[in-house]
Amino acid sequence: MPGIYVHIPFCKHKCTYCDFTSFPNRLNYAEAYMACLYKEAEMRARELEKVVFDTVYIGGGTPSVIDPKYIYGLMKQIVNKFRLSARPEVTIEMNPGTVDAEKIQIYKRAGINRFSVGLQTANDAQLSELGRIHTAKDFIACANLLRGENFSADVMLGLKGQTKEDVARTISLVHENGATHVSMYALTPEDGTPIYTDYLNGELPDGDEVAALYDFGRNLLKEKRYLRYEVSNFCKPGFGSRHNMNYWRRGEYIGLGVSASSFFFGKRFTNTFDLDEYMKCVLSGHFPVIESGEVSEKDAKFEFVMLALRTVFGISAAAYRKQFKSDWKEDFKSAYEKTKGYLREEGDVTKIKDEYLYVQNQILTEYME
Ligand code: SF4
Repeated sequence: MPGIYVHIPFCKHKCTYCDFTSFPNRLNYAEAYMACLYKEAEMRARELEKVVFDTVYIGGGTPSVIDPKYIYGLMKQIVNKFRLSARPEVTIEMNPGTVDAEKIQIYKRAGINRFSVGLQTANDAQLSELGRIHTAKDFIACANLLRGENFSADVMLGLKGQTKEDVARTISLVHENGATHVSMYALTPEDGTPIYTDYLNGELPDGDEVAALYDFGRNLLKEKRYLRYEVSNFCKPGFGSRHNMNYWRRGEYIGLGVSASSFFFGKRFTNTFDLDEYMKCVLSGHFPVIESGEVSEKDAKFEFVMLALRTVFGISAAAYRKQFKSDWKEDFKSAYEKTKGYLREEGDVTKIKDEYLYVQNQILTEYME
């Protein structure tokens, strides 16, 4: 079932690795921005009045940095304007340095039932190096406020000087503090970010070192009974993210807010990345879309294969045939022949072998051609 993504672009401080659309020092725009978001939600809901949405994901930026009354108002608008399923999954991203008990109570009253907490590492020196505004102790305080709730923690690999002991401490911290879900992903040094200089100077762990940290972390998570369901995502049984599963199944979603992207009725479209332009556009009653296009059948097939191979559920030949009326191994004959040593067949389902999951990008490159 389709999902709704909402982008809140405000942060207290820009992290050294961040290339997301986030604006530190523009918190004074929050009220005006949220009014625009409510309006965009209403405009989109009118267009999609027959669609039932199963998930809402409030991401950023740092949604927890703004006054929680805006998040409450946002959810009220979404519930009133869109049609939601009987028990929607509603997630909010939070920075452990920006939460308190009252905020969490308001979120819960607003219908939020899943929390995604950006920890990254239990090592305070590494947190400071990343420009994060919180410490490991702040994470513990945040997790205490979330006791008994469905919450996910982010764990980052590939940090300067990061050791297996750091990864073990981080995973123990999230496990001992009750996280039901872990997203463990590698730092990507993007050109233009401060950390890119560290990368150019050879100060970050290389690909093999990060792969070793990933393997180490994956085994530790398995020991602690977190099941891997996607290359970077692990959960306690029954706690997989429905919102993300929809992306990986090539499901439809609508994105609201600056820089948000959408996939609906076979088209992908993206909102402007410029905050002022976003607000001007919405206020004048126009969708703030800067890029839009139909997905060709060739691209749709590639997306299907690429997204399915990222998950432990793999490619179902029957599901592919139902959607495209053809056989995926025929459509990607040459790539399949070249990569089949990395793949495992289970009935009509094809998956990347566990030991090669981390190098999936190299495998998928074959399918791009
Ligand atoms: S908190 Fe997230 S969005 Fe904000 S600057 Fe840091 S990485 Fe970027």
